[in-house]
Amino acid sequence: LFITFEGIDGSGKSTQARMLAEALGEAGHAVRSTREPGGSPGAEEIRRLVLEGDPDRWSAETEILLFTAARRDHLERVIEPALAADEVVVCDRFADSTRMYQGLRGPGLRDAVDALHRLMIRREPDLTFIIDMDPAKGHARAKGRGGHEERFEDFGAGLQEQMRAGFLALAEEFPDRCVVVDGDRAEGDVAADVTRIALERLA
Ligand code: C5P
Repeated sequence: LFITFEGIDGSGKSTQARMLAEALGEAGHAVRSTREPGGSPGAEEIRRLVLEGDPDRWSAETEILLFTAARRDHLERVIEPALAADEVVVCDRFADSTRMYQGLRGPGLRDAVDALHRLMIRREPDLTFIIDMDPAKGHARAKGRGGHEERFEDFGAGLQEQMRAGFLALAEEFPDRCVVVDGDRAEGDVAADVTRIALERLA
């Protein structure tokens, strides 16, 4: 099973991905935890190229190309081998993040993401948790943990609001695989819902 976590910055999805991986391991499943952008040595290099340094270095179009290249490497070197070995793959972000972060930045960009996805990726997760969170609250949480990759300021509160709405719309676009989870609760309560839903799918 291929499980992904999606949501805006500070939604808590990385914590939830880690907690789910632990819970599935305890339940006896072989789990492969990974993340995007990155997840393989080559893809991690691309992550650094895009996320470190001048935020205006790349256009949204170029980011789509770079992240799709990173995803292809991650898919063939990490995700597909793990799935072939019957491991549960738990991935923090995947193509839905590119659909939102790059796809919402201008007209035609979402179509570009989807066209490249059809050509080079051709795989969707079996289950996607969309951790829903008010961007202002998410921002406060993301700021609290520090880190040089915080892109909230680059994107602005308006775009974060748009992305939140975009993720909710995505859940309607892909109802078979997407589950929206209210992330504005205690970590353990969110994790309990996520684990229950994942174990149901695995049964
Ligand atoms: O999820 P994570 O914190 O690792 O993401 C790192 C940064 O990259 C975040 O600030 C996120 O907004 C940004 N990002 C992006 N485009 C993507 C995926 C993530 O700009 N497709």
